[in-house]
Amino acid sequence: MGIPAITPLEDGIMSAEVDILAMARQQLAVATGHLNLDGGLHQVLAHPQRALIVNFPVVMDNGEVQVFEGFRVQHNASRGPTKGGIRYHPHVSLSETSALAMWMTWKCAVVNIPYGGAKGAVRVDTKKLSRRELEKLTRRYVTDINGMLGERSDIPAPDIGTNAQVMAWIMDTMSMQVGHTVPGVVTGKPIELGGSEGRVEATGRGVVVALEEAARVHGLDLGNARVVIQGFGNVGATAARLAEEAGATVVAISDATGAIYNPKGLPVRELATKYSGHEGGIREYQDAEKVTNSELLELDCDVLIPAAISAQITADNADRIKASIIVEGANGPCTPEADAIIGDKGHLIVPDILANAGGVIVSYFEWVQDLQNFFWEEDEVNVKLKKIMRAAFASVEATRVVYKTDMRTAALIIGVKRVSEATVRRGIFP
Ligand code: GLU
Repeated sequence: MGIPAITPLEDGIMSAEVDILAMARQQLAVATGHLNLDGGLHQVLAHPQRALIVNFPVVMDNGEVQVFEGFRVQHNASRGPTKGGIRYHPHVSLSETSALAMWMTWKCAVVNIPYGGAKGAVRVDTKKLSRRELEKLTRRYVTDINGMLGERSDIPAPDIGTNAQVMAWIMDTMSMQVGHTVPGVVTGKPIELGGSEGRVEATGRGVVVALEEAARVHGLDLGNARVVIQGFGNVGATAARLAEEAGATVVAISDATGAIYNPKGLPVRELATKYSGHEGGIREYQDAEKVTNSELLELDCDVLIPAAISAQITADNADRIKASIIVEGANGPCTPEADAIIGDKGHLIVPDILANAGGVIVSYFEWVQDLQNFFWEEDEVNVKLKKIMRAAFASVEATRVVYKTDMRTAALIIGVKRVSEATVRRGIFP
């Protein structure tokens, strides 16, 4: 059908034992401190508004019933309907999903699109499912959480382990239940079902816009920059290709099978078309040294783009990271301890809630197009995406200077300020 395969899970990467929700709350506390927010408001923002756990059965192809655990969490709806992806991964939890929902709230506020944050997840290894099982799992999960979803209330999108086909099933399932087609209930759909031009590439494209802005501020010539990318899913692969188009040399990449390194550069397009997603993955490419995932992060380079999962750069390895610019394609790849170590070295982290916002920005465009039944050309999407990313980068940089802090804290200050102002303006019901 011409639809890309499900992003392989990054199982070569072992997530450190990090409490992601505690990490998100620690970041929030830093921002509320700068903003002198009152304790009650801080409490409101530290908790998700609504969270649902579902345990649902799926009849597998062999006739056996398997029960899966899923979640949907809405963190804050003060600025609009909640928005955020659905993740299929064997290690998800309610608390991690809550942290990811909180980050979505700040992300939408930093780039100033009219959404609150949400996230969904199912604990599953999609590699072990047939296409039919994946479809049944998706339709049942969405049916069980459908009380929370709606084009005016909570709008899912792709994340790790899900793709446009999964979004198509979600749209169809929601539409079947109301009796007419509701394209605006989910974004990241195939183009022929009301998806937007440019949505598949949007997160990676936004990452590279953030990189270009960071390079300019930091005085790094991208034409001479060596880039290392962790993860070769949708975000990592697009960022690799566009970083190369921007003049940089991609020297190392990892996928689910491991990592490869060649200081002279890797053929990004060839890796994407001939190796990624195939048996053996990118490690089958011969003209490169095989390295482990932890070695990849510590390679000699100028730019590191972690584009896989959270908690990859921690107190354990932060002092060995050589990149002077880290652009967070993934959500939460650097822990607060790592932030401090990297900041002390004078290196720059462009935080996730800014750097990877391109996906939700184009999701917003998709939703607007769906509500209006009026569709844009790809150029228009990309130009508008770039404009929002650049403006957000500039406001985070300006806030960083005013508050004499790092970019993550500056981005959080903007996001938390916008959300708390909306919350206060609306007041507390009843
Ligand atoms: N899952 C993506 C993210 O973490 C996209 C969310 C969306 O488009 O709603 O930003």
